Amino acid sequence: MDWRSLDEQYIISTYKRLPIAIAKGEGNYLYDTTGKSYLDLFTGLAVNVLGHSHPKIVEALKEQGTQFLHISNIFLNQPAIKLAKRLVDATIPGKVFFSNSGAEATEAAIKLIHKWSKTDGAGRDGIVVLRNSFHGRTLGAVRLTRQAHVYQDFPQPSFPVYELEVEDMDGLRAICKNEKPAAVLMEPVLGSGGVIPLSEDFLRDVAAVCQEEGMLLAMDEIQTGMGRTGKLFAYQHAGITPDLILFAKGVGGGLPLGGVIAGPRLMNQFKPGDHGTTFAPSPLSAALGNAVMDEWTDPAFASHVEEVIEYLWSSLVSLQERLPEQLQALRGKGMMVGIPLSVSPEEASRLQQNLLEDGILVDITQKTIVRLLPPLTLTKEDVDFFLGVFTRHLNAISAKEA
Ligand SMILES: *Cc1c(COP(=O)(O)O)cnc(C)c1O
Repeated sequence: MDWRSLDEQYIISTYKRLPIAIAKGEGNYLYDTTGKSYLDLFTGLAVNVLGHSHPKIVEALKEQGTQFLHISNIFLNQPAIKLAKRLVDATIPGKVFFSNSGAEATEAAIKLIHKWSKTDGAGRDGIVVLRNSFHGRTLGAVRLTRQAHVYQDFPQPSFPVYELEVEDMDGLRAICKNEKPAAVLMEPVLGSGGVIPLSEDFLRDVAAVCQEEGMLLAMDEIQTGMGRTGKLFAYQHAGITPDLILFAKGVGGGLPLGGVIAGPRLMNQFKPGDHGTTFAPSPLSAALGNAVMDEWTDPAFASHVEEVIEYLWSSLVSLQERLPEQLQALRGKGMMVGIPLSVSPEEASRLQQNLLEDGILVDITQKTIVRLLPPLTLTKEDVDFFLGVFTRHLNAISAKEA
């Protein structure tokens, strides 16, 4: 079967494809239809936080999968209630709204913030977002996504949006002097915008301005969440208290699940009929989410994650010391790494291909930035394997340049 030409004929082309077909996933590795293995440093875009076929995930799949898959929102949904309680207990006092995806989490956030504007916002309206942010592909989320190629060809909903440069506190104060925004929404580490971590000082300063002004603080933890940066959610490194936390990607352990955790000012804004969705929260996704939380709250797992993050970064930093030319702007946090390369987009995608041929799957974002989003189950051996192969290819690139 020629899957490639059937794909081109029948599937609308919204993503570039890699030239491999996956047959199975096990642990931190993917296997293609020819049996070749790939260390998975992409995890389906930060979704498979426990790698592939993790025993706890498989067990939850079997247990919930043989009971019921979908019951709708007219019944109590035990796996979802359990997961909501665990998410709230681990973050801020509040309540959860579940969605199927990240973009829908952003839509729920926009609606909640707007409701608050109308009821308690005292004339505040609109949302401050960062330049190069990514908050999703639905129209409301696209309005908040400040990357021109994502929004420029589409209609823009009319609510006010204010664009702020990363780390620009004066910019935020200037916006607040002239306008009355209702909320600030930020990714603690900008993901598709180029893996740009916000400093803890910036996060704390923004939180302080929100407090002074009476604005809401919303964190988009869709990519950074579920342990990726070493804490359950990345804002927790800065010791701040947001009003709203957006989650998705890793939260369903590989199945579609997203949503928001809404703090005291937002959690009672929706009344029955104000918002909803048919599928979410899928009991099966929520059961898998509980399996992820089981693993995350196991102290042995937590210390594994901490240890591997430390090993990953000390290895990256020592590689940077050996190849300062190629690795000028290494950045990220935890298991979220951005390696900007000074090569052409074509060379970057050739590097991705070459790594693939050597059994390693990485992502390229913003055309020339290698982005690593490994599973939290990553091992030191995986790190060594990646860095060995990666160093060889970086050397090959620089040899060619010289
Ligand atoms: C992926 C992502 C989204 C959108 O999530 P989808 O599930 O693709 O709709 C929003 N915000 C951030 C930070 C993301 O990484």
